[in-house]
Amino acid sequence: MTMTRRGFLSASAAFAAAPALCARAWAAPLPREADIVVIGAGAAGIAAARRIMAANRRVIVVEAEGQIGGRCLTDTATFEVPFDRGARWMHNPDSNPMIRLARNAGLDISAAPPGQNIRIGRRNARPGETEEFLAALLRANHAIDDASRGRADVPCASVLPKDLGDWAGTAEFMLGANATGKDLKDISVIDKARAQERNVAIACRQGLGTLIAKLGEQVPLSLSTPVSRIAWSARDVTVETPAGKIAARAAIITVSSNVLTAGNIKFTPDIPKRQLDAAARLSLGSYDRIALQLAGNPLGLSRDDVVIEQSNSPRTALLFANMGSSSLCSIDVAGSFGRDLSSQGEPAMIAFAVEWLTKLFGSEVASAVEKSGATRWNAAPFVLGAMSAAVPGGQPSRKVLSEPIGCMFLAGEATHETLWGTVDGAWDSGERAAEAALRRVGALRDAEPAVPPAPVRVPKQRRRGSPAKSAMPGAPIN
Ligand SMILES: Cc1cc2nc3c(=O)[nH]c(=O)nc-3n(C[C@H](O)[C@H](O)[C@H](O)COP(=O)(O)OP(=O)(O)OC[C@H]3O[C@@H](n4cnc5c(N)ncnc54)[C@H](O)[C@@H]3O)c2cc1C
Repeated sequence: MTMTRRGFLSASAAFAAAPALCARAWAAPLPREADIVVIGAGAAGIAAARRIMAANRRVIVVEAEGQIGGRCLTDTATFEVPFDRGARWMHNPDSNPMIRLARNAGLDISAAPPGQNIRIGRRNARPGETEEFLAALLRANHAIDDASRGRADVPCASVLPKDLGDWAGTAEFMLGANATGKDLKDISVIDKARAQERNVAIACRQGLGTLIAKLGEQVPLSLSTPVSRIAWSARDVTVETPAGKIAARAAIITVSSNVLTAGNIKFTPDIPKRQLDAAARLSLGSYDRIALQLAGNPLGLSRDDVVIEQSNSPRTALLFANMGSSSLCSIDVAGSFGRDLSSQGEPAMIAFAVEWLTKLFGSEVASAVEKSGATRWNAAPFVLGAMSAAVPGGQPSRKVLSEPIGCMFLAGEATHETLWGTVDGAWDSGERAAEAALRRVGALRDAEPAVPPAPVRVPKQRRRGSPAKSAMPGAPIN
């Protein structure tokens, strides 16, 4: 167990002298009490803790892993440039508080370049073909929007126009697996249509994991401390970990929907079936990144080029090439194909990436590989997947999941009705849960926010027939 936080430490010369990273490894006993305990140090947990600190209440974040970030995790050691193993893009810069916080923290923020390519076999799509693809995407989106206003919730795949021709598979990949981690046959039309437009994609040069870690620097937290049991009532809560118990007046639980349903945290009494069923309907899709450092630019692409292929098979991927002018490329696989592939292990994933790039760009790829690696989020024990997407009939579950359970409040991307599946949604959900918990402990009156609220993020009315921008190949979502 590593415990970090100046507030829980007496001023210590050793602490003051430790370099920044070592400070995080300072060991101290877990506090026995807090006003509010937060479980999980991902985006939702860090946002919640910061909100509670702003209200001058005692908070402790308890995190199972040895680092902050959860599904925002930047590898700064392996490749030439920071590699985001999880989330890479933020969206909606006009209303997204994380972008301001990132700038204030001195990190470099930039929009994804608009350029993108569609490959048809070994050549680029011609302008007319790209137009055809965008038209197919528009029609597919339009069909999903229309169906979401119908009486029954149905799978997105069942409402797609039947005449998308050669672009059917590519549209399915972009709207389904690539955008949500699930195939369109497994996603509710209502959930998909409610997703807020994710317009401009914004990256942080140092990585989104670096950003969340930076925003968590002043937060009292205990790393490598998996919560095993939570005893709760309407009045108080006790959180059990291998390092001891913490008593609090409220808890915010930010673990993923799959972690919640896996039963790794025991609840006494059990949490209501209503919430567990809701989490099951919001299970996580599969999304992984395969990293290849390729010497000598064998793909002949420019900095940060995004490439998809015309494919009528789910065995496809999205390429993000020459990241930040380096020779690092990310090949992203998702949905049921990505799940099968990642279950075969890292060597199989790397072999697929080389084979796929070779098919599209030629045979020099294999010999250019200098370094490689792959994420396997479905096997990460404290996450168990990538991002939530509702099964048909499951969209109301997002609201159910955010209902208080005694003095416990669930947060995390799955609880957000419009920004689900995103870091932005996770952050917002953490702030909201913190406000609810602060009210519960009497630290806030009903009409009083802990800190000035972030601008309300109302989903923009999508023009009839216009695709969510995230569905466009030039506005990457994941
Ligand atoms: C490969 C990939 C690419 C993605 N790309 C994007 C993108 O580009 N843009 C975007 O907006 N979103 C993206 N996402 C989704 C985004 O990462 C998530 O929506 C968001 O980070 C979720 O944050 P969270 O705080 O809700 O959950 P998490 O990040 O999962 O945080 C929950 C925390 O709880 C901890 N925990 C679990 N069990 C316990 C326990 N028993 N005790 C204590 N702690 C525990 C976990 O270790 C974790 O740190 C991507 C996700 C993946 C996997």
